[in-house]
Amino acid sequence: MKSVDEHGKTDIKSLSFDELSEAVISAGEPRYRAGQIYKWLHVKFASSFSEMTNLPLRLRILLDDKFFVTVLTPLRTEVSELDGTVKYLFRLPDGNCVESVLMHYHHGDSVCISSQVGCHMGCRFCASTIGGLIRNLTPAEMLDQVYRISIQNGGRISNVVVMGTGEPLDNYESLVSFIRGLSDEHGLHISQRNITVSTCGIVPNMRKLASEGLAVTLALSLHASNQAKRSSLMPVALRYPLDEVMDACDYYFKETGRRITFEYALISGVNDTDQDAAELTALLKGRNCHMNLIPVNPVRERNFVRPDREAAFAFQHKLERGGINATIRREMGRDIDGACGQLRRRFEEG
Ligand code: SAH
Repeated sequence: MKSVDEHGKTDIKSLSFDELSEAVISAGEPRYRAGQIYKWLHVKFASSFSEMTNLPLRLRILLDDKFFVTVLTPLRTEVSELDGTVKYLFRLPDGNCVESVLMHYHHGDSVCISSQVGCHMGCRFCASTIGGLIRNLTPAEMLDQVYRISIQNGGRISNVVVMGTGEPLDNYESLVSFIRGLSDEHGLHISQRNITVSTCGIVPNMRKLASEGLAVTLALSLHASNQAKRSSLMPVALRYPLDEVMDACDYYFKETGRRITFEYALISGVNDTDQDAAELTALLKGRNCHMNLIPVNPVRERNFVRPDREAAFAFQHKLERGGINATIRREMGRDIDGACGQLRRRFEEG
């Protein structure tokens, strides 16, 4: 996954270990140097070649001539007083901004990263899509969200979810490089089983991902139990209808053995009625899956309302009575809330 800047320099942090090894060897250097450089970038999180003090000066100069190191700058952090959740706003090298979140769970610390600047999927309830898509993130820009947070968090990160701004399967090549980079044994070596990719249902790329030989969890943003309602909430459903999306989920499970997580933002009066629960139960029956119910985050520019706690529990129980494994997602950082993408929007609006 090569990307080159205006000076003809290559984005070294986006290179896989093999690509870096090839580059090192073709520059006439011994192969073991690739291991050293990769470690500086992906384990020690070096931000420049001058820090790589176990490399000869000559090589550091050569690297600086041919490559650049992508580093994100934290612009703002907001820390929840309730549960320690931290929202980060990062500046990318070109001045664009993205959001990431660190959450502390019993099973470990989890980072939620963005995959694009903005998004063009147009989901009606989502803040990230309001300004449209600006651009895709590079693998390095996705990795560095995890790396910067890892530094601030003392190196303890066990899970990574690609659930921030953007549609990861709309930035497919970068996503796959990112997953391979994050799980590489020469790098942070985060288990692929602890990585989750959330999609609004880009069917061809769900199928492609199933065949990559990766062990990541796929989360499908469902949000409605029939095609008509789903396409009124998620324009992407007009292109990839619900039955094709469900077939792609089944295929992903068949190919990878990984149980699908379904996400469902509960919106009062829109998708939380008895009929919705019944239809959803029928849709998911017999599927090895998990249903994550998320009371919708109110977005300033939208007028969707979340059901109250009792109504959310009632919906969950209806699913469970129908044999569907469902949980209501624990809300993290309620006091620093603002749905995904809102920190960036607040910042950019000044
Ligand atoms: N584009 C991907 C991943 C980013 S969104 C996707 O669609 O899955 C991550 C999750 O947050 C998705 O399930 C998305 O539908 C959900 N989401 C977006 N806005 C939300 C809101 N206001 N309240 C609750 N969930 C929301």
